[in-house]
Amino acid sequence: MKDQRIGSPSLKDMLIVIISALACTVIMSSLHAYERLYLFTRIYKLQLFQEFAVFLPAFLAMGLALLYYHQIQKLESEVTQRRQVEKALRESEQSYKELSITDDLTRLYNLRHFYNQLKKEIDRSLRYNNPLSLLLIDIDNFKQHNDTYGHMEGDKVLSCLGKVVRECLRKTDSAYRYGGEEFTVILPETKGEDAINVAERIRQGFEAEILSPRPNKAVHNTVSIGASQYKTKEELEAFIKRADKAMYMAKEQGKNRVHLVELT
Ligand code: GH3
Ligand code: MG
Ligand code: MG
Repeated sequence: MKDQRIGSPSLKDMLIVIISALACTVIMSSLHAYERLYLFTRIYKLQLFQEFAVFLPAFLAMGLALLYYHQIQKLESEVTQRRQVEKALRESEQSYKELSITDDLTRLYNLRHFYNQLKKEIDRSLRYNNPLSLLLIDIDNFKQHNDTYGHMEGDKVLSCLGKVVRECLRKTDSAYRYGGEEFTVILPETKGEDAINVAERIRQGFEAEILSPRPNKAVHNTVSIGASQYKTKEELEAFIKRADKAMYMAKEQGKNRVHLVELT
């Protein structure tokens, strides 16, 4: 049933009304209702009704049909309203679900969702024997930025990194705020060498962003990114640890760079 049906009778409704009226007329006729009514009006000298007696069964049939039509319309209206309420409920349930797995500041997914998704992707990788890679991103010298410009300016950097990461992702990738100033990206069906390309896009994109924590002050922030490819049968924690290790290697090598940990 569609919303547009309310208030506008369809061909089916019209047919039902006509068929009901015809059925009533046939039934009345078979019961000799016309003659009986006519006699009734004569016996009781209801001259005024005599002329109309012949139409009375038809009026009755029309009335019944209209009543039926009205009931159908009422029912349709109730069904439509219920469907609208159900749709609104489903939508609000979906938006609550999204909120419960989203980090407010960066608009990326949160830590809880990260573990759930990584578990799923590891299972999928094992089942279909597809490669799977992980990025661990950490903002360089972030404490210094916070200390110099304040916590609120630091939050703007986090939000900016969230935006850059979202823009660099492919359809199947997903990004998460892993901790304070650390982010992760799950890259399904991606080998380590290809994960580096995504990581480089993020690194360069973020470096190109200009933030202005003070008037006439332009600041470029940078990130160090570690990348690891999943090793068959490896534990989830070990997989994350290798990406973390790769990120620390990037820091050690001078920050603002990407490092891929070898698949040994
Ligand atoms: P490194 O280049 O080695 O990563 O140095 P760093 O200064 O980035 O690293 P460190 O771990 O010393 O500092 C991380 C800082 O991140 C410290 C903490 O105050 C800040 N931080 C964590 N969460 C938030 C947040 O939600 N908002 C802001 N503004 N700062 C945060
Ligand atoms: Mg850190
Ligand atoms: Mg840092």
